[in-house]
Amino acid sequence: MENEISKNFIELEIENDLKNGRYKEIITRFPPEPNGYLHIGHAKSILLNYGLAKEYNGHFNLRFDDTNPTKENEEFVKSIVEDVEWLEAKYEGEIHFASNYFDKMYECAVLLIKKGLAFVCDLNADEIKNYKGDYNTKGTNSPYRERTIEENLLLFENMKNGKYLDGEKVLRAKIDMASPNINMRDPVIYRILRAYHHNTKDKWIIYPMYDFAHPIEDAIEHISHSICTLEFEDHRPFYEWVVNNCDFEIKPRQIEFSKLYLTNVITGKRYIKELVDKKIVDGWDDPRLVTISALRRRGYTSNSIKKFVELAGVSKANSSCDYSMLEYCIREDLKLSSKRMMAIIDPIKLIIENYEENEIEELEIPNNMENENLGKRTIKFGKELWIEREDFMINPPPKYYRLFVGNEVRLMGAYFVKATRYDTDDKGNVTTVYATYDKKTKSGSGFNERKVKGTIHFVECTSAKEVQVNLYENIVNEEKGKLNEDGTLNLNPNSLLVKKAFVEEALGNAKPYEKFQFVRNGYFSVDPKNYSEKNIIFNRVVNLKSSFDPKKVER
Ligand code: ATP
Ligand code: MG
Repeated sequence: MENEISKNFIELEIENDLKNGRYKEIITRFPPEPNGYLHIGHAKSILLNYGLAKEYNGHFNLRFDDTNPTKENEEFVKSIVEDVEWLEAKYEGEIHFASNYFDKMYECAVLLIKKGLAFVCDLNADEIKNYKGDYNTKGTNSPYRERTIEENLLLFENMKNGKYLDGEKVLRAKIDMASPNINMRDPVIYRILRAYHHNTKDKWIIYPMYDFAHPIEDAIEHISHSICTLEFEDHRPFYEWVVNNCDFEIKPRQIEFSKLYLTNVITGKRYIKELVDKKIVDGWDDPRLVTISALRRRGYTSNSIKKFVELAGVSKANSSCDYSMLEYCIREDLKLSSKRMMAIIDPIKLIIENYEENEIEELEIPNNMENENLGKRTIKFGKELWIEREDFMINPPPKYYRLFVGNEVRLMGAYFVKATRYDTDDKGNVTTVYATYDKKTKSGSGFNERKVKGTIHFVECTSAKEVQVNLYENIVNEEKGKLNEDGTLNLNPNSLLVKKAFVEEALGNAKPYEKFQFVRNGYFSVDPKNYSEKNIIFNRVVNLKSSFDPKKVER
């Protein structure tokens, strides 16, 4: 229903192309360079491309754009495949590698030479740059521009066969050095580079440049719509020049959309790599990062990412999304699907003085009051309980309805208790609170002689499990400035807080990635890294309070 009224501009283009017969089948692709881990912005690109293929009964390819042998490696290939699969973007058939098309790219280059549309140039990189001119000055033709077709064919073959040193010669497209678009001023399309390639090994010592390779990759795979981000807009004329002049039957078209930016996070590969290398974060999947693997490890679900991308929308205008929108999406996903359990993150002891010594009672409580399908569980109750430090105050301010001496509260799913006295340590911090309970007030008994204003949660001491919880804050703060004056990252020193917590018995069996609401404390997910049954670490995915209003999202 919602989709009917608000088609994005790419959908409108595609529908037009189908109607006027420009394409019979919609084929899209996600073309990452395997030189880092994917982040939330890439998730947008993946889901957009996959979603369009699905919407128009076409298909979606996953292709590694591995034409630059110096930066790429297998670890990144593996993690990217894992992320795409986790997002359930189903790619057609085999995974494609641009490097499998090197032969075809070479053929295309020869074809351009034969058409008089490419030439071998002996200028070095600096000279090429100087001859190019700039926005205000037209470029100057290379002195090698008028070589004959025969000479160019021979020189290009010699380049391939190793007759020259790296950088000694390049192959350039012959277009227009006076073009107002600098990308059309005889761009380099092949360079000599003696580098080992992870796929083609030592077969090639010449490699195609990105702008030349990409349209060919798309055309080979019969991609109809090559969707990319806005910085490629000025490269589109050259993209079209390549598909037109290399005689492809099905000519893909490029459409650009704006990148996804998110506040209070780091997405730049360079910065993340630095944090990883300096061990400031625990790898590319550190839960404070927004790589897809980090979000997964922290406890985000693929559904929450899909919802976020949908809310962010597709447009040509650059804008950034608030981090709170991402948090809203995971809360929405976990609200009804996760069990609400009790965990005490900053514990003090509550001793119920009129409760039988050594008696342990079992109480049955619903797993999620808003979703009966999640069933019920039993929790333990006894004389000694853990409660949160913040749920007791010596000198309570007005409107504090939790425990203080003389006040009565409900223990969630159990009884009313009234605080009578407390102990402190030598620094004045409360260590133990003493209370009495009223047996008649058992939860579910229908007791209604008097009411209390506050309900607090607890964990029974003898059955409690001790676990580690990791509490996170944003690693950078947009308002304080992400960067220092010297260009380094302005990191939040409190981005990770490690705590020992007491949780109810049942949580002692939690498995990696299992998610729960810890009542009043937020949503938590079991960290898969360093997991063992004896060492369970819960990552806080998000707290319960929201500052995001979904009605305010502009579309
Ligand atoms: P690099 O700086 O190394 O080029 P990259 O993030 O552009 O980094 P690629 O592997 O080239 O990495 O990106 C794969 C695809 O993801 C491209 O089509 C790119 O346009 C898209 N993409 C990258 N960042 C974003 C983003 N923030 N939002 C949406 N799409 C993005
Ligand atoms: Mg890129």
